Amino acid sequence: MATIFLGEMISVNQNPWNIKSPADALFYEEKGALVVDDQGIILKVGSSDLLCQEYKDAKIENGEGCVILPGFVDSHIHFPQMDMIGTHSGELLEWLEKYTWPMEKSFADPEVVREAADVFCQELFKNGTTFSSIFTSNHEHCVDILFEAMYRHGARAIVGKPSMDQNCEPTLAISAEEDYKEQLRLIEKWHNKDGRLFYSVTPRFAPACSEKMLEMLGKLFRSRSDLFLQTHICENQSEVAWIKEIFPKDKDYYAVYERYGLSGERCVMAHAILCTEDERARMLQGGTSVVHCPTSNLFLGSGFFPLMKVAGSGMRVGLGTDIGAGTDFSLWQTMSEANKVAKILKKPVHPVHLLYAATEGGALCFGQHDLGRLEAGYKADFQVINPGKNTLLSRAWKKYKDPVEKLMALIHHADDRVVSKTFVNGREVYSV
Ligand SMILES: [Zn+2]
Repeated sequence: MATIFLGEMISVNQNPWNIKSPADALFYEEKGALVVDDQGIILKVGSSDLLCQEYKDAKIENGEGCVILPGFVDSHIHFPQMDMIGTHSGELLEWLEKYTWPMEKSFADPEVVREAADVFCQELFKNGTTFSSIFTSNHEHCVDILFEAMYRHGARAIVGKPSMDQNCEPTLAISAEEDYKEQLRLIEKWHNKDGRLFYSVTPRFAPACSEKMLEMLGKLFRSRSDLFLQTHICENQSEVAWIKEIFPKDKDYYAVYERYGLSGERCVMAHAILCTEDERARMLQGGTSVVHCPTSNLFLGSGFFPLMKVAGSGMRVGLGTDIGAGTDFSLWQTMSEANKVAKILKKPVHPVHLLYAATEGGALCFGQHDLGRLEAGYKADFQVINPGKNTLLSRAWKKYKDPVEKLMALIHHADDRVVSKTFVNGREVYSV
């Protein structure tokens, strides 16, 4: 039997970078209805009067005062770093030494991982996030336990064990051969589980991987066509300078990944702030996607990603919280900071661009063509929010009538207080 969810509806239903007026990509229905079948697929979206007539036998979920939006896609996040948000240090490389390695080392204890995994899933749902691409610690049990928690909680995610065998805390290093074997076991057990959990080959970042490890990762990634690849690129100036020292024969950072076949379709790289024009052109041509993580980039002082320029060139760009260099699980906060970065670069971004990058734009980085919209045929991954739970948002919501202005109010006011329910595949996974 179908279920009808009632409420105001907001969704970006086409790529706003492909049209002249981004506002035209925004779908808004004041008295809307979302019809979902029992397989978790959206059957129809439209006016409640019409759809309640058409689906007379459907179960009605009344969302008085609520707004329904697609679930968010967090295209880049680190599970073990949840408890180190805001840790004070210098830039990226110092921060990794001082806080990241010790924190990830603590995940050697499966009990620590187990406790954190449930909290992590809840934090994602509580912030309206229904699909995320996640780095764990470099322990096989960490990936296993997180997958198990995500399976139990009904989450949709791509998860990868960050491979590293050099330039990291010694107890986190693992031989390329052992790393390969661990990943094969994880892929066997979890990849494409229930159609919602997937494994991602995850070179931590090129400096932390020997030539041997990069070679093995390339071999693994190319061994089947349905795996994903996630990593970091060109985040920070010292990191880019380091690449020149470690890989002197490669003409740039991206060339290291290219040399081992760690690039192209299904490859998603975070940051890409300092990529050269040539690197960007090769990424675009090969089909590599990038993730903009503004709260992280500002927190570590890494730099300003030129969102309008890159997404405007046709490259797929998602948004990532990059917890825990990133400072908030909320994609609303991430959008708000992306807006400021774009302003500093004097290339302002439209609110519709931002919501697109946080929903379908992110999903497309991972080749998911049926996620991120409120539209017939798409998977029913959505969030129900109640603007009344946040005083300033509630006031703005009543004041502004134009859908783009309503979206602006959401971007700069909404947070986890307003998310009342989250659904994955039409199934409620979170409720307050
Ligand atoms: Zn990261």
